[in-house]
Amino acid sequence: MATKSKNVFFFGGGKADGNESMKNLLGGKGANLAEMAGNKNLRLPVPPGFTITTEVCTYYYKNRRSYPKTLKEEVNIALKKVENLMGHKFGDINNPLLVSVRSGARSSMPGMMETILNVGLTEKTIPGMIKQSGGNSRFVYDAYRRLIMMYSDVVMEKAAGIEPIDEQGIRKQLERIMDTLKKQKGYKSDTDLTSDDLKQLCASFKVKIKEVLGKEFPDEVMEQLWGGVGAVFASWNGKRAISYRRIENIPDEWGTAVSVQTMVFGNMGQSSATGVAFTRNPGNGDNKFYGEYLINAQGEDVVAGIRTPAPINVASKSEHNKELITLEDAMPKVYKELFDIQNRLEKHYRNMMDIEFTIENDRLFMLQCRVGKRNGPAAVRIAMDMLKEKLITKEEAVMRVTPAQLDELLHPIIDPKAEAIVKPIAKGLPAGPGGAFGQIVFNAKDAVEWYRLGKKTILVREETNPEDVEGMRASEAILTARGGMTSHAALVARGWGKCCVVGCGGLHIDYTKKELHASGKILKEGDWITLNGTKGNVYEGKLPMMDATAENDLLSGFLKICGTVKRLGIRTNADTPEDAAKAKQFGAEGIGLFRTEHMFYGAGSDEPLFRLRKMIVSKTEDERKKALEELFPYVKKDIKATLAAMDGFPVVIRMLDPPLHEFVPRDQGKLEQLAKDLNISMEELAKRANGLHETNPMMGHRGVRLGVTYPEITIMQVRAIFESAAELLKEGKKPYPEIMIPVVCDVKELKDQLDLCKITYKEVLAKYGLKKIKHMFGTMIEIPRAALVADKLAELAEFFSFGTNDMTQMGFGFSRDDIGGFLPEYLKKGILADDPFQSIDQEGIGELIKIGIERGRKTNKNLEVGICGEHGGEPRSVEFCHFAGMDYVSCSPFRVPIAKLAAAQAVLKDKKGKKK
Ligand code: PEP
Ligand code: MG
Repeated sequence: MATKSKNVFFFGGGKADGNESMKNLLGGKGANLAEMAGNKNLRLPVPPGFTITTEVCTYYYKNRRSYPKTLKEEVNIALKKVENLMGHKFGDINNPLLVSVRSGARSSMPGMMETILNVGLTEKTIPGMIKQSGGNSRFVYDAYRRLIMMYSDVVMEKAAGIEPIDEQGIRKQLERIMDTLKKQKGYKSDTDLTSDDLKQLCASFKVKIKEVLGKEFPDEVMEQLWGGVGAVFASWNGKRAISYRRIENIPDEWGTAVSVQTMVFGNMGQSSATGVAFTRNPGNGDNKFYGEYLINAQGEDVVAGIRTPAPINVASKSEHNKELITLEDAMPKVYKELFDIQNRLEKHYRNMMDIEFTIENDRLFMLQCRVGKRNGPAAVRIAMDMLKEKLITKEEAVMRVTPAQLDELLHPIIDPKAEAIVKPIAKGLPAGPGGAFGQIVFNAKDAVEWYRLGKKTILVREETNPEDVEGMRASEAILTARGGMTSHAALVARGWGKCCVVGCGGLHIDYTKKELHASGKILKEGDWITLNGTKGNVYEGKLPMMDATAENDLLSGFLKICGTVKRLGIRTNADTPEDAAKAKQFGAEGIGLFRTEHMFYGAGSDEPLFRLRKMIVSKTEDERKKALEELFPYVKKDIKATLAAMDGFPVVIRMLDPPLHEFVPRDQGKLEQLAKDLNISMEELAKRANGLHETNPMMGHRGVRLGVTYPEITIMQVRAIFESAAELLKEGKKPYPEIMIPVVCDVKELKDQLDLCKITYKEVLAKYGLKKIKHMFGTMIEIPRAALVADKLAELAEFFSFGTNDMTQMGFGFSRDDIGGFLPEYLKKGILADDPFQSIDQEGIGELIKIGIERGRKTNKNLEVGICGEHGGEPRSVEFCHFAGMDYVSCSPFRVPIAKLAAAQAVLKDKKGKKK
C-alpha cells in the first residue's frame, strides 16, 4: 500500500500545512500544533516543527516496519524549513538545532507512548550548543545525559523489543550509576551535579549501554532522529499502549502520528520554566485558569511527579503547594501573556483546553494544546457554564458530557456524618472525585490479581507510571505519595473518573516490607483504607458510603436539558414504592418493569413471603385459592403505593414470573412453620417441595406458564392492580397500570391470560361502579420465538417490552447465571467484544429485536414498544433502542440519568446522520 501523497506536515512561523480538523491524519497533538501555529486568529508562539502522519504508522505496520519511499525526502524538506526559521541547523557543529520527537494519536493516550527530547545532541554538536546557551555547559551536559537515558531506554531497548527483568532495564541501570555518583559526592538532588559530573556520567552511561545492550549509543544526529521516529511508531504497539486502547476502546488501526519540534528549554536557569495548565479547573469545573509549573525544569519533570510543582496563580493553590511562589508572582509579564493566550484558546476551541508551555529565558512558548480531560462533576459544570456564557449551544452541552462522566456524579461519597468524627491519617491532592474504600496493595500486578479474586483494593504507590495502568484500572482508587494534579496518576484517574489522591507527602511507603507509614501508624498489605478523592483525605479502615445525588442542582439542570433533546421515554425498573420515588426524583417517566415477585423479598415483614410460600406448596385449588386470598392484601398494598408514587405516569406490572421452587424455604424453622400452618407433616411438605424441583428451571414452570396452569394466580394479581387503581381514581389520582405477561412464546398463551385479565377488569369496574380505568395489556418479548411471531402477538397486545436478559440467554444459549465461567476467556480471545448481558449484541439479539418491532407494528401500528432488560441503562444499548424506533427504555433508578443522556445524544447523532 502506498500512502496518499503527503506524509509530512510543516508548522511554524505563522504558517502550517495542517489544521485542527485533521486529527485523524496528524493526531491530536499534530493537528493542534498546526492550528496554534497557523490559524490567523491565534498565531501563537509555537516552536516550529513538522508532523509525520498516522498513515505512515499504518504503512509502517503493514510493510514490515518500513517507511514510504518519499518519506526521507519529505522530512529533509520540512527540516530545512525549520532550520531556516530558527537560524540553527540540525547536526551543525557551530550552531546546532535540537528537536523533540513525540507521539500523538487521534485521541490522547497520556503517557502511553514514547517521547524523546534533545535529539541532535552529540559529542560533535555539544560545543556549539554550549556556545548557543551562553556558555552553560552544565545545562548542555544535563540535556545530553537525559537524551542518552531516554534514547537507550526507548529506542535501543523498548523499541528493539528487549524485555529486561524488573530492575535490569537500561534506564534503571543508568539511574543507579547516577545515584552512586551522587552518593559519592554527597549530593542530595540531581541539580547538585556539576558540568564535569554530568560529562563523566555521560561517558559512563555510554560504556554501560554498550555492555548491556551490545550496541553503541548513536552519536549521529540523523540516526538519532530516525531512531526516535521508529521508536514512537513501535510504541503504538507497546504493551501499555495496547492495554490502554483496550480499556478506552481505541481501535488498533488508528496508529499514531509523530511530531518533530524544535526544542525549547525550560531548564536554562531561573528565568526558565515549564508547566501544564487548564483553561478551567478540571477537578470541579470552576471557571478559573488553573495550572502548575516548575522553574528550571523540562516538561517530563512536571508530569513525572518527581518535584512538587508550584501553582501558576492563587486559584491553583492547594494545601499541598500553597507555600510555593506562583508564576503570576515570579514572572508577571510571562504570566499575563500566558493568561491572554489561554483565553484566546478557549474562545477559539470553545472548550476547556489543556495546555503545555515552556518559558526559555523569559520567553513563552506553547508546546501543546488539547481538549482537557475532566472528571464528571467538572464536565457537567463546564457544559452548563459554557451554555450560560453562550459559548456553546444546548446540543453541544449535551454532547460535552459522556455517560461515564455523568455516572461519576452518581458515585458514592463518604457519609459526611461518619467522616466528621474521624481524623485523616494523611492528606494529599484531590485528583479524582468521590469516596472509595479498599484493601491496600502496593503494586499493579497485585491489584489485578486481587481484583480477579473479587477483592476491592486501593493501589498505593510512590507515584504511578504507564506500566501501572491495568492495576490502576483494577483498583477501586489510587493513592500516591508524590506527584501533583497533572501527574500520571491524576491524569489517568481523572480520565476514568476514578477516586484518586496524589502527592500525599505524609505517606512513607516501604515496598519491600509492603508497609505504609502515616501519622505514626503502620498499615500493611490487605489493611483497609478509605479515600476522599474530593478532599484529598486518607482514612484508616472502612468508612460508610452514601450517594451524592439527592440535591444536586447542577445535575438536575443538565438532565432537564437532556430531557428537551431526547426522543425516547425513560422509565425505571422498580419493585418498591421507595425505588419508584427515587427514580422519579431522577426524572423517570414511569415504571417499565415492576417485578411482582421482588416485593415479597422486601425489607420489613416476612408475612407476604410466608403467604406466597403457602400458596406455592398448596396442593389443591382450594388450598391455593385460600392462600391467594391471604396474599391479596399485601400485593394490593404494594401495588397501590407504587401506582400512587408514579401518579400520572405508566407503571408496567408484570405477572409473577420466576420458577416457584425458588420460593420454597431452605431454613428448617421456616419449613416447620409452613407445615404447621398448612396442617401437613414435614414429610408431606418435603414431598410437595420436591415436586416443584425442575432440571432446567429457567426454561421450566415460570412466567405465563404459571398463569396458564394456575389461573387463580393471574386473577388475584389483576384484581389487586385494578382495585388499587379504582381506589386511587376515587382519591383523585391518575393511576395508569400496564399489565404485562412474561415468557410468552405463542399467541394462544397470551389469549388465555388476557381473557382472564379482561374478565377480572370488568368485575372490578362493576364492584367500584366505574366505567373505565386507564390501562393497557401487553406482553414481554423475551423468547426468540416471540420476536418471530410478533405480528400475531401484536394483534392482542397493546404493548411489547423486550426482556433482553432472557432474550440474550435464550438467543445465545448462554446461561445468564453461569456466563462467568467462560466469559473472561471469550473476551480475552476476542470471540465476544463485550459481555452480551451488559451491552446488547446488536448483530444477533438486536436483529431479533428489530424483527419483533417491525412485525409487531405491522399488525398494530399503535403498539407501544420498550425494553426492560438490564441493557436499558447501558449507553450503547440505549442508542440502539433509539435507532430501532422504541418508545422508551427502562432501567434501574441509578441509571436513569445515564439513560437520559444517552437518549439525548442518540438524537444528536441521528441528526448528524451518523447512523440511520
Ligand atoms: C428480562 O428477561 O430481560 C427481564 C427483564 O426479566 P427478568 O430479568 O426478570 O427475567
Ligand atoms: Mg425475563
